[in-house]
Amino acid sequence: MRLLVVGAHAADFVWRAGGIIAKTAELGGEVLNLSLSYGEKGESGNLWKEDPNRSIESVKEARHEMSSKASEILGCTYQCLDWGDYPMLINEEREAQLAEIIRDFSPKIILTHTAKDPFNPDHPLAYTIVQRARLLSAGAGVSAAFKRIDPPRWFSFEPHQPELSGFLPDTYIDISSVFDLKIKAMECMGAQSYLKDYYTELGARRGNHARRISGDQSIKYAECLESQVPFVGDLNKLF
Ligand SMILES: [Zn+2]
Repeated sequence: MRLLVVGAHAADFVWRAGGIIAKTAELGGEVLNLSLSYGEKGESGNLWKEDPNRSIESVKEARHEMSSKASEILGCTYQCLDWGDYPMLINEEREAQLAEIIRDFSPKIILTHTAKDPFNPDHPLAYTIVQRARLLSAGAGVSAAFKRIDPPRWFSFEPHQPELSGFLPDTYIDISSVFDLKIKAMECMGAQSYLKDYYTELGARRGNHARRISGDQSIKYAECLESQVPFVGDLNKLF
């Protein structure tokens, strides 16, 4: 059970997939939590509000510390590629770097942003580069001229404004047993503390939907995903 989570910015994982990360770790899986940038310019509002004269480097350091601490709580390894944000730029070299990380880690599942997010310049870019790097690491599912892995399953995690980002969840994951860890991890993100209440409410609301859909009354909290590739497997996996 190897899960790769790719966020455009250092804190994206904690709100959108913190529960799924902790749940994977609880089940004995391995999670690589990758940020393409620290979100130092566009998603560190509280740090800039505290001290508008601080340096970009000091914001990056603070973000690294917060994300590392949150990752430790959730049970995953944290890595940041430090590509810069607002705007993030991608090129051939960065695409190859991500493809190599995917090949090396060989995840069974990749989670990242949605293709559309009208409120953020970097999230759709992260989707695009993950899409391309996944294909470059896996090829066309057949032998190729380069070293390749089996194509990982691939999902988008929930964006902050799901309807306006065209997010249509088709997979709900019960995170009730690890929700306390998600709260602790969210508390590490001093730079974006206003999001904690929002994502606690969202977890409960998605839990309500998950109970209605499945009939499983034990689900209290859930996170949802949208598949980017169809499910393929033995029929018994659907039972
Ligand atoms: Zn972000």
